[in-house]
Formats: sequence, structure tokens, C-alpha cells
Amino acid sequence: MSERNIPGEYTLPDTLAKTEIRSEQNPFIIAQSQLDETASYLKLDPATHQLLRWPLRELHITMPVKLDNGTTRIFHGFRVQHNDARGPCKGGIRFHPDETIDTVRALAAWMTWKTAVMNLPLGGGKGGVICNPKKMSPGELERLSRAYIRQAGSFVAPEKDVPAPDVYTNPQIMAWMADEYSMLRGYNEFGIITGKPLPLGGSAGRNDATARGGIYCVREAARVKGIGLQGATAAIQGYGNSGSYAHKLAEKMLGMKIVAVSDSKGTVFNPDGFTHEDLMAHKKRTGSVTGFPGTEPLSNEALFELDVTVIFPAALEGAINRNNAPRIKAKIIAELANGPTTPEADIILRNNGCYVIPDLLCNAGGVTVSYFEMVQNSYGYYWEEEEIHHRLEKKMTDAFSQVHRTAGQYGVHNRMAAYIVAVERVAEAMRLRGWV
Ligand code: GLU
Repeated sequence: MSERNIPGEYTLPDTLAKTEIRSEQNPFIIAQSQLDETASYLKLDPATHQLLRWPLRELHITMPVKLDNGTTRIFHGFRVQHNDARGPCKGGIRFHPDETIDTVRALAAWMTWKTAVMNLPLGGGKGGVICNPKKMSPGELERLSRAYIRQAGSFVAPEKDVPAPDVYTNPQIMAWMADEYSMLRGYNEFGIITGKPLPLGGSAGRNDATARGGIYCVREAARVKGIGLQGATAAIQGYGNSGSYAHKLAEKMLGMKIVAVSDSKGTVFNPDGFTHEDLMAHKKRTGSVTGFPGTEPLSNEALFELDVTVIFPAALEGAINRNNAPRIKAKIIAELANGPTTPEADIILRNNGCYVIPDLLCNAGGVTVSYFEMVQNSYGYYWEEEEIHHRLEKKMTDAFSQVHRTAGQYGVHNRMAAYIVAVERVAEAMRLRGWV
């Protein structure tokens, strides 16, 4: 990828506005080729196929933001609406230094498939801002979040496109965005965004929803594969929202032992395991999992090579690739991240008998509880946490069985089965609407 240096702490890719990276690592090229493969299984007509290869709409924005040192910095961001045949677009906003239009396009397409696999009445969208939130103060982050909504405010709406948290965005950022949108409209419109704090119309159970959905999937996968989980080991790559809650819930709900965890600063390992409570206390104190007493450091690559029952990739795209896939010994890969496994790695894992719970299913708990949040916002009536857990469990286990059944029917692996279920549903909606 060609890059141009601009003054400041990161580089601005030349690919800001166009699909130029013809690389197997480009998530959008991967998303398109996954669709192409599905289209041939489903014998999709060319118009339907072509329409689904591209986002319906995309917005590119440029935002001036005052920094604490008195200077103004220009940030670039995107919102992509991949498909809304089944309902309003839905999907998070990422703040990341490596964000590109292509990652956002891929993530938006994956949201279309994810909401369809879960049979939610929603489409797929995604947003992104090229920035490094770790180097920004809370005031700078607030001004950037508000600037994003000022620029994208007429592109999104509760009935049209509803953002949410994603990598390096959180409930506080959602609160600023909901406030800015409400100020623009002149009345409170908290339903514009999900993943909000509870006092602003957030939903009980949203914080741990992505991890909880993944844990239900691991439980179901272990059942169909006849794998015991009580006392079994796991490793977690990434310790943000989904990775840290996966640690807590794998312990609490499945009785598993977590032996390795990584974050952007490094990896810690103890063959006897360590608890979520202790590691979180350390991370809160020091800002990272590294240096956690009683553990030894490992290289990030070594985490994937551990002889554990489950690996939870819970960071970014492309974490499992052709370099590390041949050395993976885990029986189950539970994809809490979006797009963590490259297509080449997928084949290697399959050939080695590893059971992959694909991202479209495994991390869909987040958007499912976001959907519950939308329903509660429009009702103006809020459910108890147990009610959310119960509804989420039903949605996840139904979707898991549907994907498992489809895999059997078509003789395909789980990822292709999830695609088949999703693409069929979206194609049917487009047909019924008379688009194709
Ligand atoms: N960002 C999450 C995802 O990738 C959640 C999206 C949402 O809640 O709308 O699924």
C-alpha cells in the first residue's frame, strides 16, 4: 500500500477514497470474494450478485477538530451503508489509525450478513474515523465525536442507519454522539445510536453482549463436537470489550480456564490460568495486561500456537493468516472480532479439523442486543437484564442451529453456511421489493 507522510503521528493512506489495494489482505476484497463463492452455491442471478458486491451508499467526511494545544487538526471519516433491503442499516463506528474506506466497506457488508444470519429486521452499515484515540484527550475525543455527527448527521437516522460502538469507541462516545444528534434535531432522539449508557436509553446487557453471544456459540459448538469445556483451557487475543468479557463469561458460564491473553502491548501466559477479576484489576492499574504478576510474557504469535481448547480472536481483521494457521492446535476458534481469519487460513484450519465459529454468528450478540436497544427506545419501555439474556440466548442458539443445519444440507463449512443463510435472506428481500 502506498503511503504519503503528513505531519503528525500517523500516515494517511492514499487509498482513502478508492479501492486500490488489490491484495488478499484487503478486507473488502475478501468480503467480495466470500460473496462470490456464496453466489455460486446459491446460483444468484447476476444483478443480485453485483448489487450485493458494493455498498448502496457511502459518505466521506473531513472534520476540523480543535486540539488541546490550541491547534486544529483535520480528521477523515466514513459511513458506509452496504444494504438496507431488510431494514435500517446497522453497525458500529471505529476509531483507528489504520482505518481505510475498504475496511469500512468490508465491515459494512459483514454487518448486512450478520443481521441477516440473526434474522434481525436490519441491514448493514459501518463507520470509521482515521485517528489514534489512545493519543487523544477526553476533550479531543468528545470534539471529534461531535464533529463526526455534525458531518454525518443527515446521512444517519433511527429509521435509516443506526451506529453503535466498535473498536476503540465506547458508551461515552455514543452518549456524545446521541447528544449532538439531539441538539441538531432540537429534540431528544436517543434512538439514533445504540450502545449508549443506561441513563440515556441504553439497554441492560449491552456491555457484555458480544462476548455472551460468543459464549453461547462455544457452548453449542462443544455440544455438537462432543468437546468438554469444564476445566478446559482458552486463549484470548485482544482485551477490549469483547475479549475481556469473554474471559469473565468463559470462566463463569463454561467453567473454562484462561491461560493466555494479549492486548496491543503484549501477551501474558500462565499454564495454570488466571482470573478475569485479577487481570482486570491489573489492567485498570497499569493500562495493559503486560507485566501481570504470576504470568510470563509470550510473543503475540505464540498465543496462537498454544495447546488450548478454544482461541478467541477478539482484536482486528487478519489475525489468523497463512503464517500462523498451520501451527494452531485449538479445537474451536470463536471469532469475536470481525474478519479475524483470512480465506487462506480458513482452508488450513478446516483441513486440520479445527471448528471455526464464524464472526457473522459468533460476535452477533452485540448487534442483537443493539436491536433490543432500538426496540426499547421506540417503545420507551425497558427490559430487565435477565429478559435480555434470555432473548439473546434464544436468538443465538436458533441462529447457531440454522447455520449448523445449513452446513449439513449444503455440505459446506460453517462460514459458507452462515453466508448462504444470510445472502439468501437479503436476496429474497431485494426480490420482494422489486429491486432485482
Ligand atoms: N460493532 C458491533 C459489530 O460489529 C456491533 C454493531 C451494532 O451494535 O450495531 O457487530
